[in-house]
Amino acid sequence: MAPAKALGQFARGVRATRGLAQADTMVACCRCSGLPPTRHFPEGARAFGHHSLRFRQQARSLPPSLSVGGREGSLAPAYCKLSGSDRSASARCYAAKGFLKELQELKESGEREDRRLKKQKQKGKKAKAKAKAFGSRQKASTAIEYESPLEVLLYPHPKLRAANLTVTDFDENLASFATELFEVMYETDGIGLAAPQVGVNVRVMVYNPTGEASEKDQEVVLVNPRYVNKSKGQTLFEEGCLSFPEIMGDVKRPKSIVVEAQDLKGDTFRLELEGLEARIFQHEYDHLEGVLFHDRMHPNVLKEVTAKLQALEGKFESENPGVAYQGV
Ligand SMILES: [Zn+2]
Repeated sequence: MAPAKALGQFARGVRATRGLAQADTMVACCRCSGLPPTRHFPEGARAFGHHSLRFRQQARSLPPSLSVGGREGSLAPAYCKLSGSDRSASARCYAAKGFLKELQELKESGEREDRRLKKQKQKGKKAKAKAKAFGSRQKASTAIEYESPLEVLLYPHPKLRAANLTVTDFDENLASFATELFEVMYETDGIGLAAPQVGVNVRVMVYNPTGEASEKDQEVVLVNPRYVNKSKGQTLFEEGCLSFPEIMGDVKRPKSIVVEAQDLKGDTFRLELEGLEARIFQHEYDHLEGVLFHDRMHPNVLKEVTAKLQALEGKFESENPGVAYQGV
């Protein structure tokens, strides 16, 4: 990075050496210490004598981090070819105008490049941290294993709280699994269903806001979904869940969202959702995170459904003695 002072000296040098600039070769001179500049910069090349030096490198081949302020306006000796006894001289170099311009441009582009690299590095760090966080939470899935017909697990089954794997195989098996998810969803009068609800801990969800098996064009399958954006505005809505029969409760969630997911072929798509669809997505996405809808209920609402939740817990305990679960 060139300090302003050093560039100022270059500018003065430009005046002194005007006429020496050549198109492709940068001409500059150095001054042996002790010689006053007035003696050293008469017009004409000869006056430079053995103090002359020629930059054989073109400006663009110099590194962007070229230091011009190494020693009071001197170019770093690495870039100067000093002749004879001046090799060790404390050189004060003066650049021809074209070189100065190129040098300035180099400096600016170097700064731009520095900023870009810094930004890229920060971005890379962030992405790495994100990937690490993502990786620690969700390992990749190899093949989806399930048994037909699928059955909806009820609260407080521990699979509803388990980590869900990212889907990596976009094969026939995945497509059949999605079809079966829809089947069990329609059978149980649902409008959305997430894979962990049928005991398969992978990041897959399906929904159909009409809840009608005949409305095939309303079916949405989301594999490895994620949020792109959530609205600040929130809304209360009474939700139910296939894993919580006969339990309903108000839950506050963002009004509208933008999400991304992969389809059954693995192609990424984006959806802007609001209203019921935004509501369904958020509820099902929570399942993929092991979050259940009563976790999001206001304490007063939760109080109203606690007895029913405990009844489900009691039923689970009697059917699955010794199995640990997370209760209210
Ligand atoms: Zn649910």
